[in-house]
Amino acid sequence: MPTISVDEHTKVEWEEKLTRYFSDDDARTGIHVSDLTLCLRQTILTRLYTPSIPAMGALRFLFGRAFEKLVFSIMLPEATQELEVSEGGIEGHIDFGSEPYDFECKFSWKYVKDDPSDLFEENFWWLDQAGQYAVMRRRTACKFAVIHVQPIPTLMIYHVEWTTRELSDIWERATRGRDYIIGIQEKLKVDPDDMSVLPMRLPSPLSGKMCKGCGVYDICMSLPPKKRRKE
Ligand code: SF4
Repeated sequence: MPTISVDEHTKVEWEEKLTRYFSDDDARTGIHVSDLTLCLRQTILTRLYTPSIPAMGALRFLFGRAFEKLVFSIMLPEATQELEVSEGGIEGHIDFGSEPYDFECKFSWKYVKDDPSDLFEENFWWLDQAGQYAVMRRRTACKFAVIHVQPIPTLMIYHVEWTTRELSDIWERATRGRDYIIGIQEKLKVDPDDMSVLPMRLPSPLSGKMCKGCGVYDICMSLPPKKRRKE
């Protein structure tokens, strides 16, 4: 048996490269579907500060990209990758714009569930995001291609069908979020130092799930935790 050891030096070097590669130096502009589906505080902070993506987040991103590339080249070569959509000042990119259904590609570290609704409940933002796309595309259904990594990689295709009422609720939430973000941006234009206007930090247990890979975690924690009434 040869001598085997962990090469910490190269590991750290690679992690730093990954982090740099996926960190976004350009200030984010416009309002995107993804800005409205997770943490609104993060949405504002990523416009004020340069996010720093942890190596773990960068790796997950890389997995997702590799999977999308595979789906595009083998399964859906006729689809439009990253199809641009926009409505009511909200912009988005559908993973694969296709007929008659658009596709979203996801990676899941969870086992395949007996009831697929459980998977979508745990990842509620997937449906918020895809629901906004459905509204923009005047559709009521879409498909998800999901690789479940554990216990052995398994590809699942899920069909999602909304009622018009469900889609109208999703769109109503999205436009409310859009207006809220615009309102905060306006206040920050008047007083850029007034961080008391920031949205609240995510409450537990959501924070446990979402904050781990957040690119503005340190900044978020160094600022007031929630909106305060001005003196
Ligand atoms: S650390 Fe959590 S609460 Fe703070 S901005 Fe990021 S996701 Fe939101």
